[in-house]
Amino acid sequence: MSEIDDVLKANEGYAPRFALRHLSKHPARRLAVLACMDARLNVEQALGLAPGDAHIIRNAGAIVTDDALRSLVLSHHELGAREIMIVGHTECGVLGLDDAELRARLAVQFGPAEKPASFHGFLDLENNIREQMDKVKSHSWLRGRVVVRGFVYDVKTGALREVSAD
Ligand SMILES: [Zn+2]
Repeated sequence: MSEIDDVLKANEGYAPRFALRHLSKHPARRLAVLACMDARLNVEQALGLAPGDAHIIRNAGAIVTDDALRSLVLSHHELGAREIMIVGHTECGVLGLDDAELRARLAVQFGPAEKPASFHGFLDLENNIREQMDKVKSHSWLRGRVVVRGFVYDVKTGALREVSAD
């Protein structure tokens, strides 16, 4: 059985006991979290969030890509989020990633591709978080309207450490 078949089986047990139909599409705690997709980071557990509390946006590296911005703008302007957390983590797979090397390797193996335009590899965890915070804070539709704070999650301790804005 594939992993997807396995999770479908789990859903068959979940749906009959479903108890979340009362939830609003507006996040109850008016919070949006942009976090890395790392499988070790359980955002809801680590932050004490219940279903319905917050928007959780995830991608490799917690990067404020065009699509992450799309979600954050909607989260604030359409769905009421007032605070944004950006959460990277220790041992991130994107830390030290060489974009050009990976792109070249994949092109050799599988042929050229235009997308993704970048893998957003970075060299410094804290600086990356700062850059992502800046992208949100400087966007004209979000600037001055939302609180933006950045954090590094330690995959060995479960603790969050705040990254200063500058
Ligand atoms: Zn990561």
